[in-house]
Amino acid sequence: MRVTRALRKLRGSIHPQYFKGLTSDCPITEMPIPQKLYLSMSQHLGAPAKPIVAKGDVVTRGQCIAEATGYISVPIHAPVCGKIVDIDSAATPAGTMAPRVVLETDPDNTESTTMSPLSDWQDRPQEELITRISEAGVAGMGGAGFPTHVKLSPPSDKPIDTIIINGAECEPYLTADHRLMIEHSKGIADGIRMMCYILNVKSVFVAIEENKPEAIQAMQDALANAEKIDATVCILPTEYPQGAEKQQIAVTTGREVPSGGLPMDVGCVVENVGTVLAIAEAIEKGIPLTQRVTTVTGHIVKSPQNVLAPLGTTYADLVSFCGGLTAEAAKVISGGPMMGMAQPNLDVATTKTTSGLVLLEQSRVHIYRALPCIGCGRCLEACPMNLVPAAISYAVEGGDYDRAESLNILDCIECGCCAFVCPSSRPLVQHFKLAKPKIILKSRQAADAKGAK
Ligand code: SF4
Ligand code: SF4
Repeated sequence: MRVTRALRKLRGSIHPQYFKGLTSDCPITEMPIPQKLYLSMSQHLGAPAKPIVAKGDVVTRGQCIAEATGYISVPIHAPVCGKIVDIDSAATPAGTMAPRVVLETDPDNTESTTMSPLSDWQDRPQEELITRISEAGVAGMGGAGFPTHVKLSPPSDKPIDTIIINGAECEPYLTADHRLMIEHSKGIADGIRMMCYILNVKSVFVAIEENKPEAIQAMQDALANAEKIDATVCILPTEYPQGAEKQQIAVTTGREVPSGGLPMDVGCVVENVGTVLAIAEAIEKGIPLTQRVTTVTGHIVKSPQNVLAPLGTTYADLVSFCGGLTAEAAKVISGGPMMGMAQPNLDVATTKTTSGLVLLEQSRVHIYRALPCIGCGRCLEACPMNLVPAAISYAVEGGDYDRAESLNILDCIECGCCAFVCPSSRPLVQHFKLAKPKIILKSRQAADAKGAK
């Protein structure tokens, strides 16, 4: 086990106020089971899961209640025992509508449906472990929700030689991953060994920002005697967006993911620490992914903390568990303030990707009037993807999506650094978020039309 520093500084990047001290010393606290859980069928990237239960069904903890509907999809399991009282449709934290299963919980019933533990996983074929991860519904918990079994099954022409475990947690306010590394470092180390076995890889970097010294020490200790792997804890400077996948690859290995490419194009797989722990629990204990740690924070939260809650817990229940608010929330953000999504109210429920819930009072919420671009170039300097945000923004605003595409808008990782530094308060990343799906759809339609000829 080695300890290194980042090979180089990030290109671009910003230094927002972090406010992590609100919760960084708060141990993970398990909240009591809420009366009702609202389980979205779209908790991951890809096709929503399809309910296989009906209203009135009684289910046990860990029982599969919705099946995957394709390769890029994952099943959903009941976090606790209870009765299905409704199947409807509701907004996800991402703002899209998706089918939803409502579970009235029965906290006194501790029955559970688990899969058989694979404690002898090192003697099992890799395919069996990948199937287990898929059946357990594991999807990226850092925010993207990409199905983990797909990430661990790269095509044969994309050999993987390096795994990067993302413990950067560069978003302001969030400390859930920080606490996971301190309190569950052994489980994360187990998950790392399993990933190495599945991908037949020895080289692993655990990338952590230097503002988390306890987590750095915990992961060093947990990996100190790890056999059969070549582990490095890589200490990164504290700057945003250090946790972005392509940036982590660059600063740990020196490799650059090409425009339009994926980590596997440069031999890498990147996985968030929470996901790695979920891999270990699914394989070693047979436990599907039904709960997660969410940082519930903000200066108006009476007792901000890192809460372990069953998936489907409403934001209202999370806030209530944290003692409520000392003032009215002017803004509710699911995720971190840089890349998270503003929510209309606290009725939304947690999913596999809900890393944080940030509640901001009026004095921290500013409504800006966008002014004309003054050509200062600050957005260009701040962009970690080497894009020209001002030019892309003008193309999008003018409806010239072909030009926006030629300026590589699809490489935008939506980090928001450009909008953060713009002195004219231009809604740059906001334009890109709206335009990208339209451009992707247009490209797909063009490809389909070409294929139909
Ligand atoms: S949001 Fe996109 S364009 Fe703006 S800085 Fe981030 S990657 Fe660059
Ligand atoms: S930072 Fe704002 S004002 Fe400056 S070039 Fe970019 S868009 Fe224009």
